[in-house]
Amino acid sequence: MAKPDYTYLSSRLKLLAHPERLRILDAIRRDAECVCHLEALLDKPQPYVSQQLKVLRDAGIIADEKQGQNVFYRLTDTEIRGWLEAILGPLGGSLPEMTRLKQEILCPCPKCNPE
Ligand SMILES: [Zn+2]
Repeated sequence: MAKPDYTYLSSRLKLLAHPERLRILDAIRRDAECVCHLEALLDKPQPYVSQQLKVLRDAGIIADEKQGQNVFYRLTDTEIRGWLEAILGPLGGSLPEMTRLKQEILCPCPKCNPE
């Protein structure tokens, strides 16, 4: 096995070593979520949530996709997916908190309002 790239790995671990980024990733490793869902989950102002999403997106860990008026984020990095399973446990359906919050915020996104 090749020698691990310790510098690269520690920079990737630093991206995960953040409570709100872990919270975001725990939600979107299950399913793509729109920004309004993540704002409700973090209970933080929109600019803060956007900034954390930008950090993860710039690192290539997550990707955004537009659906109508809404932007959804999903986890695209398979290596990070494996790490998250080691840290947070295996996936067991959707985040219960998220299911409850979506009902509370009356979100207008297409996922919450299937036609
Ligand atoms: Zn929604």
